[in-house]
Amino acid sequence: MAVPLQRPHVVCLLLCCLTSCLSIPDPRQRDALIHLEASMQTGGQVVLSDAEQRLDALLFKMKQEETAKEDFPPAMHFFKARDLIKGSPIFSLLQKMPKGGALHLHDLAIVDVEWLVKNVTYRPYCYMCITDNRSIRFIFSSQLPKPLQRCSPWIQLKHLRAKMVNVTELDNSIRNNLTLYTDQEPEAVYPSQDVVWEAFEQKFLALWGLVMYAPVFREYFYQGLSEFYMDNVMYVELRVLLAEIYELDGSTHDSAFTLRTYQDISREFKANHPDFFGVRVIFSIHRGVNASVMTGAVEEAMKLQKDFPDIMAGFDMVGREDSGKPLWDFREALSLPAERGVPMPFFFHAGETNLQGTEVDQNLLDALLFNTSRIGHGFALPRHPLARDLSRRRGVALEVCPISNQVMKLVKDLRNHPAAGLMSEDHPVVISSDDPAMFGASGLSYDFYEAFVGFGGIRSHLGSLKQLAINSIRYSSLTPQQQEEALAQWQTKWNTFVSENAF
Ligand SMILES: [Zn+2]
Repeated sequence: MAVPLQRPHVVCLLLCCLTSCLSIPDPRQRDALIHLEASMQTGGQVVLSDAEQRLDALLFKMKQEETAKEDFPPAMHFFKARDLIKGSPIFSLLQKMPKGGALHLHDLAIVDVEWLVKNVTYRPYCYMCITDNRSIRFIFSSQLPKPLQRCSPWIQLKHLRAKMVNVTELDNSIRNNLTLYTDQEPEAVYPSQDVVWEAFEQKFLALWGLVMYAPVFREYFYQGLSEFYMDNVMYVELRVLLAEIYELDGSTHDSAFTLRTYQDISREFKANHPDFFGVRVIFSIHRGVNASVMTGAVEEAMKLQKDFPDIMAGFDMVGREDSGKPLWDFREALSLPAERGVPMPFFFHAGETNLQGTEVDQNLLDALLFNTSRIGHGFALPRHPLARDLSRRRGVALEVCPISNQVMKLVKDLRNHPAAGLMSEDHPVVISSDDPAMFGASGLSYDFYEAFVGFGGIRSHLGSLKQLAINSIRYSSLTPQQQEEALAQWQTKWNTFVSENAF
């Protein structure tokens, strides 16, 4: 990260000069101030090569054309903006750009739901039931499964489809139950945070039975890595619940089995794609659990960290912060690793809220008190000057997920995302996509588009994109040596990208 050496002196000099002026300020001083401020942003200190400058000029022209459009995608809800973004030349370029790592993703929402509908629900022994609140649940079973509370009787999808003349409607309905994305008016379908969070959690429960079936699980994860690889992402850090994987006869496996499966599939994927750097996982538990369950989870995480040091990156909590318990409630469990002298990096979601001043709003400071390695979202950070300062000084990066924050109704117009201010002063940030399949997105490019075109404003440039990609490796959980290797690999890809696209 560039250190703004000498800046205070320059600013002081310029301002002294300005305030002592009695006539119209000197345009050269004005230019110097503008230049100085622009150099403070993310990537502001990056020196571009000739080829990079040519590409940057091209990008600048594209961005000017994009911002002049009447329908400016970052100002719109992503569900309405998606097709416009797909047609954007900046987006095509971002898809080709080597983006480094995706550091904030969740296990059950990384694969396009269309793949699940077409490839998973058509497998034999797939049963479905409909819940009282009109969500759906799935299970694969060699015999009729036991009835589920508050759900209709199970029906095998193969039999249901056989009775239908046209299965498209059923497939569409299943798909709609697996993602928040809708082609209806998003504000009408999800009028409040409560409604969108309830739908979000129901859809995760629907995904659960489909994905955690052993043969599907392996293919699902491989497919997820493929989607990120195709989007030019070379490294993934995944929040995982390590839920039980189950077999057709109903037998289940423990969390170590799930972790080993992640490890095996990651290795297989890397063997087939040598330019993919790898995967690490962050063991996560729902923040709705009680203190003793949390203690058990932290103990389990410590054991897994010891047994699987290559793939285990650390620990986090998931679920809605506003309705869950604050981090401070779990202080005893979260202190266990330090008390026992066991290294256990934390990667806490914190500040994914606009409930200023509440108990939950203290999660940012608490996450920093517990020495979190990064902050998931940190949407509320600009309202916490001390947390902001600590995060900056300690290099605790924010994992900014623009589309997620918009769909979950923290911000409407992505030009107003709080990360705009943070990026204008080169606060440590990385861009990620949280649950892309849940939002109708994929990979990282859509979120990079929103960050670059939306809150990056007209001044963010190729240097900003380059810095964001470098940040995603520098702020990853990889060891310093691995980071050097990953950066070297990324640099080669970057050079190719620049030479192929700079005219
Ligand atoms: Zn998240």
